[in-house]
Amino acid sequence: MQVIQNYIGGKFLPPAAGNYLDNFNPATGEIFGKIPDSDAADVEAAVAAARAAFPAWAGLPLEQRHDILRAVSDGITQNLDRLAEAETLDSGKTIFASRTVDIPRAALNFKFFATALMHFASESHQMPGALSYTLRQPLGVVGCISPWNLPLYLFTWKLAPALAAGNCVVGKPSEVTPLTAFLLGEICTAAGLPPGVLNIVHGLGPKAGEAIVRHPGIKAVSFTGSTRAGAEIARIAAPMFKKLSLELGGKNPNLIFADCDYDKMLDTTVRSSFSNQGQICLCGSRIYVERSIYGKFKNDFVERVKAMRVGDPMHPDSRLGAVVSKMHYEKILSYIELARQEGGRILCGGEALNMPAPLNKGWYIAPTVIEGLGIECRTNQEEIFGPVVTIQPFDTDDEALALANGVPYGLSATLWTNHLQRTQRFSAELQAGIVWVNCWLLRDLRTPFGGVKQSGVGREGGWDAIRFFTETKNVTIAG
Ligand code: NAD
Repeated sequence: MQVIQNYIGGKFLPPAAGNYLDNFNPATGEIFGKIPDSDAADVEAAVAAARAAFPAWAGLPLEQRHDILRAVSDGITQNLDRLAEAETLDSGKTIFASRTVDIPRAALNFKFFATALMHFASESHQMPGALSYTLRQPLGVVGCISPWNLPLYLFTWKLAPALAAGNCVVGKPSEVTPLTAFLLGEICTAAGLPPGVLNIVHGLGPKAGEAIVRHPGIKAVSFTGSTRAGAEIARIAAPMFKKLSLELGGKNPNLIFADCDYDKMLDTTVRSSFSNQGQICLCGSRIYVERSIYGKFKNDFVERVKAMRVGDPMHPDSRLGAVVSKMHYEKILSYIELARQEGGRILCGGEALNMPAPLNKGWYIAPTVIEGLGIECRTNQEEIFGPVVTIQPFDTDDEALALANGVPYGLSATLWTNHLQRTQRFSAELQAGIVWVNCWLLRDLRTPFGGVKQSGVGREGGWDAIRFFTETKNVTIAG
């Protein structure tokens, strides 16, 4: 049994109240560890450690902060295998994904923001007789709360810019996937991060997470997770006038026009539908296809999806693994049942998979394609966040746009066309924070990342992240 601890003031500490939660392996359904069920007392200790560390960290010469954050990046890379195994054990994602996507990206997050801090500059404005300049100062202690789908990848996506900007952090990874965040503490200590600069508190959202949001010493909260929890966080934090960045759910459209590069589109659409078992906020779960190629697309796509094999997440050849938890597994299956009740036709998948022992109690779902459901159906309105997509034909550009925009979410949209005017019109009119044209999940970390409507407020990435984690002050000097 693996028991992990909080990382506070550079030390690994048990939760103050001594309570622990079970940690499950999604591949087998078995409990393999215990994690702290932290509460407000643990958050208090973490905030105190962060406060104590803040003046020295914020005052460190940029080069030194850079060197430490680069060393964290290198430490992640040196521990690639260990971190990748922990990520897969915790989340059910394939070891292939952990090794090639999640952990390398976590290392890159630190490298990217370590470099960014050396180049960050603020503005100055001149007028006759006066010079104004902008200070962008670290906020102090900030909170970073992250979800289970890309555990270390998304946790570090917040920590790195927060630390680079000179803040100290109280972070909470998802209680469903805490393991790599725990290992990160060790890596940070080895990299020379001073005690208290980063504190990691484990536990439940409504308990440990909410204590972070409520704490008056925490000046800003960067949150990635569900729209439901994001709304709750905003409700608590808004009257305290905290800075908030909320990266929330999605129900992303994938718009396919007959003039696209068909083979590239088909390959990418399989990936954008089912990568990480469909548990990426950017997966395209509503696929709209121009009617002239709908029949061909349907046949080719379903054939490709049927050929996908779900396997042991730890096997290097597996490309689809388990979904993250029993609760999530049941939620996805209930949505497949709902799709049936709403009149959807299951073209492939549509069921849980019985795997051979020792995986027979794990949480596996066959990749599922559903046809025959309109935009008004709950299946097409609500985020399922699993290996389930719907497909539907459209006839005109106006119809495609109305379908794409016809949900409460607005995170990303993918457009497949080689028509320049259409690309320009759709890029402007799609209600989404991110539009991919003839690609998917092509990420340049300098670009703004975030959603509109119920997909959130604020932008992460590049200077947006550094600006979020700093307070802006204008100084005007006359004479
Ligand atoms: P979740 O909202 O249940 O939990 C996310 C994190 O918030 C966890 O650490 C959790 O413990 C914590 N939390 C939950 N309730 C809280 C509360 N009241 N106060 C403070 N913290 C709280 O989400 P999840 O199930 O872990 O993740 C899946 C969701 O995340 C999906 O909706 C997905 O679309 C979204 N997501 C969004 C993005 C994005 O960039 N927009 C990226 C990845 C995932």
